[in-house]
Amino acid sequence: MTFFEVIEVYPGISMCFVVILGLLVGSFLNVVIHRLPKMMERDWAEQCKEFITNQNDVTSPPQGPFNLMVPRSRCPHCGHQIKSWENIPVISYLVLGGKCSACKAKISARYPIIEIVTGVLSAAVVFYIGISWNGLAALVFTWSLIALTMIDFDTYLLPDDITLPLLWLGLIVNSFNTFTDLPSALWGAIAGYLSLWSVYKLFKLLTGKEGMGYGDFKLLAALGAWMGWQMLPQIILLSSLVGAVIGISLIVIRGRDKNIPIPFGPYLAIAGWIAFVWGDTINQSYLKLFVS
Ligand SMILES: [Zn+2]
Repeated sequence: MTFFEVIEVYPGISMCFVVILGLLVGSFLNVVIHRLPKMMERDWAEQCKEFITNQNDVTSPPQGPFNLMVPRSRCPHCGHQIKSWENIPVISYLVLGGKCSACKAKISARYPIIEIVTGVLSAAVVFYIGISWNGLAALVFTWSLIALTMIDFDTYLLPDDITLPLLWLGLIVNSFNTFTDLPSALWGAIAGYLSLWSVYKLFKLLTGKEGMGYGDFKLLAALGAWMGWQMLPQIILLSSLVGAVIGISLIVIRGRDKNIPIPFGPYLAIAGWIAFVWGDTINQSYLKLFVS
């Protein structure tokens, strides 16, 4: 009996396993979302410092290793080092009452929320795709999109460190005809990149403004690589829908200034995930609508 056969016999247990895995990964995604943009900034500062010959008036970036593992997480208020038991997804937040154990400063509810969202989406994607290598690939796809959504929302950045490996992984996964065939995946990546790139160029030509960033092109290229070019129109359509819903809710709920730019990446990522899970179902209901 293989590992996959064992968990197929006990679907309830395996779903619990997936949710717990999702919660743990969500906890790690919190670190990625928080640190990856800072790591990129440090990298840029370091490169600028090397580039500028007169370094006297350049403030050097903070020293010491800073990556996804080191240093250990600390309370941003008092510097208290987070112990392992304070780092259990969701549970620690509830036990601590949403406060730092040392200084009682409030911990943002967004950490447990991201953990729960990751847990729920992980379970959903495995429920639809099944417990298999395909399911595992789908999990990695889901986790990457969660990280990209939050990082873009926070910083208006879609790190190459996530979009490019995601693109390559999509092509590799589909070289086994996993979610689509390889030519569709390849042309999905090309068409995904070029479609937004041409919109960007046209927009810039007409208005002189930059409407979106290169990260958006790479993200749509990655989505094309995972789902094939056939799904691109639906992703674009869904992303404008998601954008309208979220944009209007933000303005209504938070009174967000209409002039503050809202990043496009999160909408693309959310639309991409919806299309990944329900895309075929949505396409079929379309067809029914036109045929009947
Ligand atoms: Zn503290």
